[in-house]
Amino acid sequence: MEKILLPAVVSLSVFFCSMRGVSASPRPRRIFVLATGGTIAGEAASPSEIIDYRAGVLGVDALLDAAPEICNFAEARGEQLCNIDSKDMTDEIWRRLALRVNELLASDEADGIVIAHGTDTMEETALFLSLTVESEKPVVLTGAMRPATAENADGPRNLLDAVRVAASQEAEGKGVLVVMDGVIHDARDVEKTHTTSVAAFASREAGPLGRVGENGVIFDRVTSRNGRLKFSAGAPLPRVDVLYGCEGDDGALARASLQVGAKGIVYAGLGNGSIPAPVEKILARAADEGVIVVRASRVSGGAVVSSGSTKFLDSGSLNPQKARVLLRLALTKTNDAEEIRQMFRDY
Ligand code: ASP
Repeated sequence: MEKILLPAVVSLSVFFCSMRGVSASPRPRRIFVLATGGTIAGEAASPSEIIDYRAGVLGVDALLDAAPEICNFAEARGEQLCNIDSKDMTDEIWRRLALRVNELLASDEADGIVIAHGTDTMEETALFLSLTVESEKPVVLTGAMRPATAENADGPRNLLDAVRVAASQEAEGKGVLVVMDGVIHDARDVEKTHTTSVAAFASREAGPLGRVGENGVIFDRVTSRNGRLKFSAGAPLPRVDVLYGCEGDDGALARASLQVGAKGIVYAGLGNGSIPAPVEKILARAADEGVIVVRASRVSGGAVVSSGSTKFLDSGSLNPQKARVLLRLALTKTNDAEEIRQMFRDY
């Protein structure tokens, strides 16, 4: 078992709002803001530059300083967990993050957690946390599409919104959430659907959970799926590759993936998870030998469904990268294809 160092906190600020005079009665909600980097902490050469910048530069205190209204809603405390572009997210950071969230929420110190995160892998981190965080207290991820130095930066507003949601009673028991551009999403359903727009996130099949803004925190619907399955946050994650289906796929990448020891493969198939014949043959043989193969889809709408009688599992409405997260966690518990098939159905 790999050794997990906990906590690897680079900087720890005092309670942000105690410094700004939030009154002690009734006790304000204590929200920890765990910063991991991303565009929300990004820096560009000029205020008009929103494309060419470095993500993961500014520290958590700078993020909190840019959103002073937070003090109207909560007592926030910043912690720097790492400072990266989220394209470089790693298993080790995921484990450290999940263990720290569980540790904080198990204590009386935190009523909720906000995670400032790059948007590129936010949907995957959110899903990972929804499967590994044990508490009913709110956990909310947020980020930005424009760097902190931009004249029209969206980060401060998103951070404020995320803290408002994390500090709200309504968010309790709703699992891990993502708040971006005033919209509250379920970690299970949310996806990044635009490369540059500030409205870059959507929950395609299910729709968003609610909104946050002038009228407060409003949940329009509830979900019973987020939080149903739980896995240990600290277990090493086995290799699972995502293969992107396309015309003429001859199976060379599937063979390469098996050669380097993938324990699972998610095939981002065509249409309703269809797999070209040469690849299907290779993957069927691999499935016979115990590799778990999940059919997902490169199509952005709809779910992958089948009669369930094939050797392959269906991703349902999870996109390929999310199916990979669930499969990796599932494989930390069992190699049994039928058990894992059930997990995909339950989640
Ligand atoms: N590449 C950045 C990141 O994911 C993009 C962002 O945060 O919007 O960290």
